[in-house]
Amino acid sequence: MTTLIVLIIVLLSVASTPLTLKKLIDQSNRRNMIKNRKYIDVFKQEEGVRAFFTTKNGAVQGTANGTLYDNEEVFQELGLNDAFKVWPRQVHGTHIEIIREEDVQRLKEQQAIEAEQPEVEETLPEDTETHVEDMPRNGVILPATDGVLTDARNVLLTSVHADCLPVYLYDEKHGVIGLVHAGWRGAVAGIVPQAIRRMINVLGAGRDDIRVYIGPGISKCCFEVGSEVAEQFLLEWGSSFAEPVEAPKQNKRADALELPDPEEEPEQRYMLDLKAAVKHQVMNMGIPEENIEISRHCTCCEPEQFCSYRREGQTYMRMGAGICLI
Ligand SMILES: [Zn+2]
Repeated sequence: MTTLIVLIIVLLSVASTPLTLKKLIDQSNRRNMIKNRKYIDVFKQEEGVRAFFTTKNGAVQGTANGTLYDNEEVFQELGLNDAFKVWPRQVHGTHIEIIREEDVQRLKEQQAIEAEQPEVEETLPEDTETHVEDMPRNGVILPATDGVLTDARNVLLTSVHADCLPVYLYDEKHGVIGLVHAGWRGAVAGIVPQAIRRMINVLGAGRDDIRVYIGPGISKCCFEVGSEVAEQFLLEWGSSFAEPVEAPKQNKRADALELPDPEEEPEQRYMLDLKAAVKHQVMNMGIPEENIEISRHCTCCEPEQFCSYRREGQTYMRMGAGICLI
C-alpha cells in the first residue's frame, strides 16, 4: 500500500513538471549532438560564409604571449586550408583592424620575398635564447587586436576563447564580415558597437543587413564577480546586467582556516549577464532584433564540450572561432 502511494506521488510529480523534463531532454540532446564534434557551425555555408566555434576537441594549446588559433585539422575539415589567415593577439582591448584585398596581396608578396631569403634560425648558435618567430605562411599576426573586419573573400578571421564571447558579424548583401573577442572589459569599453560602426562607415555594410551571432561563452549562471568588476557594469547599464547575489558568500579574503571576522562586511557579489549586455549594445546600434542570435551554450558549466578559464583556472587550452567569406 505504501509502495502504491509513493508510486502515485512520483507519477503525479513527474506529470506536473513536464517543462522541466522537456528542458532536461533538450539539454541532453544538445550536448550529445556536439559531444563528438570538433566545432559548431555558425551561419549557413550556402549563404556565402563559413563560420565556426570549436568545442574542446578542436581547441589549441595556449601560450603566455597571446594564443593563435592554428588547428590545421579543423581548417582541413572546414575546407579553409587555403584561406589567408588573420591571427589577432588578443589583449582585452578595443583595437579593431580592417583587412582589405590590397592588404592581403601586399602581405602575400612580402611573404613570397621572405620565403626566398635564407633561413635565419639555422645561423643562430644552438644555445641561443632568442626565439625568432616565423613569419606565418599564408597569414598575418596582428599585435594587440581584439576585433577584425574584412570584405575580402577567402580571408579567415580567427580568435581564441576560454569564456570570453566571440561575436560574429555578417552582412551577406554587402559581403562584409567581422569577428570580435569580447570579455567584460572589451564589452564595457564598447568594442562591439565600434566594430559595427566601422563595418557600416568604412566597409559599407547596411544596418538592417548585419546579422550578429553572440557565441558560446560564460553565461549568467556562472559569471559571479565582486563589486569592483560589477561596478563597471552598474555604471554603464544600471542593474540591468549585474544581479546581486542574494546571500553573499563568505568574504574570500578571509583565510580558510580562520573564522570570518564578524566586523568585516562580506563583499556583495553579482552575477553578470555579458551576453545580454552585448545584445543590448547591438540593438542600440540600430540592428534589428531578429538579426541577432545568442548561443545558449555556457563554456563554464558544460565541461564535456568546452574549455573554461573560470572552471579550470590556469588552463592553457583555447577554443577557436573563425569566419571566412567564401
Ligand atoms: Zn554556466
